[in-house]
Amino acid sequence: MNILSIFLSVVVGGLLGGAVDSNYQGRISQFVAGPQSAAIETFSPEQQALGKGGWRGEHAGKWLYAASLSYARTGDETIGRQLTEVADRLLQWQEGNGYLGCYRTDKRYYVRPSEEAMNVGWDVWINTYMLKGLCAVAQVTGQEKYLDAAERIADLMYETFIVQDLKIAQTGEHSGMVGTGSVEPLCDLYALRPTPKVKALILRCIEEMDTTPGLGLVDRLSKGMDVALVGNAKIYEMLRNLTGLAKAYSLLGEKTWLEACLNGWTSIVNDHLTPLGGPWGGVNLCQEVFNRDCCFAPWQVTETCSVMEWMHLNKALLDITGEARFAAELEKSVYNALMAARATDGLRWIYYVRTNGVYGRGNEWSCCWSSGMIAVEDIVNYLYTTSGKTVYANILSPSTAELTLENGKKAAFRQEGNYPFEGRTSFVITEEGSWTLAIARPGWAENLSFELNGNPVQAKESKGYLCIKRDWKAGDRLTVTLPYGTRRIERVREYAHETRWGFNAWYLGHREHYVCYAQGPLVYLADYADAVDKPNPLSLSRKEAEALQIEAHRFSVNGTEFRPACQMPPYEGTDFRTLWIQVNN
Ligand SMILES: [Zn+2]
Repeated sequence: MNILSIFLSVVVGGLLGGAVDSNYQGRISQFVAGPQSAAIETFSPEQQALGKGGWRGEHAGKWLYAASLSYARTGDETIGRQLTEVADRLLQWQEGNGYLGCYRTDKRYYVRPSEEAMNVGWDVWINTYMLKGLCAVAQVTGQEKYLDAAERIADLMYETFIVQDLKIAQTGEHSGMVGTGSVEPLCDLYALRPTPKVKALILRCIEEMDTTPGLGLVDRLSKGMDVALVGNAKIYEMLRNLTGLAKAYSLLGEKTWLEACLNGWTSIVNDHLTPLGGPWGGVNLCQEVFNRDCCFAPWQVTETCSVMEWMHLNKALLDITGEARFAAELEKSVYNALMAARATDGLRWIYYVRTNGVYGRGNEWSCCWSSGMIAVEDIVNYLYTTSGKTVYANILSPSTAELTLENGKKAAFRQEGNYPFEGRTSFVITEEGSWTLAIARPGWAENLSFELNGNPVQAKESKGYLCIKRDWKAGDRLTVTLPYGTRRIERVREYAHETRWGFNAWYLGHREHYVCYAQGPLVYLADYADAVDKPNPLSLSRKEAEALQIEAHRFSVNGTEFRPACQMPPYEGTDFRTLWIQVNN
């Protein structure tokens, strides 16, 4: 796939367009301004010798990936030059054996560890994020040397994990998922250059997902077990493994892998996703692991890295199945979890978003600040996809698009309106053509209605997409109306919890009822800090909870105002938030 041709043809407007623009002007253009930036200098021989190592080397690969998408999307020569200068500097530092990381020679992943030293931190993670970044640079610049460099990173992994037979799971933490998650970038490389060595590495990662003691990722998920029972349940790393497993299925076709991914996805959607669309933990003391399915409490914590990787998993499953339920999850996460975690300057992010509680900010070296950057740049990639003579609209948003269909013909249109702030959007065709427009039914909307040039039309449903096939004429206007009423989302808390990595819960002895509110795709928050296990003064009676209506994108509870999460950016005023309101039955 040439991502350049897809990206140059979609311009996103509205709320998401603003986020894409500020992300580009902010983190992408400023955090790495050129080869001399600190995130790149970390890879110099001088810095390596200092032995600092550490996971912060991941930012270089993440930036190469995001900046490649920016370049593909804008065609801007400045970012293009910045991208190749940075990539060229990194290539100069790639060693003869293929190593392209920031660890001192005695600390590297390929040095056989003693029995006591089972892992060497984040070295493989960093090398494979670099590999992913270089694959993206190669795609957007069309220059093979970047793909050659990515392949040399894989060569060293092959030598280490296949020839020398070291365990990839032993190269990183979190039950080995830091190592086995390499499957995701390795699939990116295999898609571009399918060599037997890269295939062997993909298979080795997947094998170790099950042979590593206590992990059992494919095996346990195939049996339908809760994601909280896989390894140490670390969210971000597990999601990277799942995205890789889905991509490996699409490349190599092993059905068990897809089954495991779909079961994992179902477990997450049923029990581990906040109404904002963020995979959550943090009710048990650790912030970053899936809690057991019975663990609901209003103080859920989502790491922004997990939102980014959750979106990648949904996109991978959408590409494989063509089912709109994955697009619906993308919409929910983009408009809520992602927008709620970003500062409007495009530079700063929230590390930990709490449904009720204080946000954790982090700093420019926090993993989440680069993951947020990637997730926003990826939005353009999610909006529209094509297959055959069909254009799939996965996330509704004001935008313009000129897409090339399989038969070489063009689908050209713009989407007008104020979505997601109103339940109506219009597709205006800008060039005649014969194709099908397939609109993903959002997860929150039952009945959608359609008008073509003012007259009602019926759409045919397929895999959750509402499809309208037509010989379009320039100026045709298809208006989609969605039921934009107030929605209540309710949960019950029955258990209290304690422990760090393990699981320990006891029955509260009573049931606590909570509600939050949404309207269309938007979920609502207040600028208010609820404290763990203190009585929540924001409460409603059952009658009040059922009568509450959102008007003009506002409502109040005991004088505290709630607004859409996407209109409550952090770093402006306080970072206190409340989503869940207690209901006294
Ligand atoms: Zn993070």
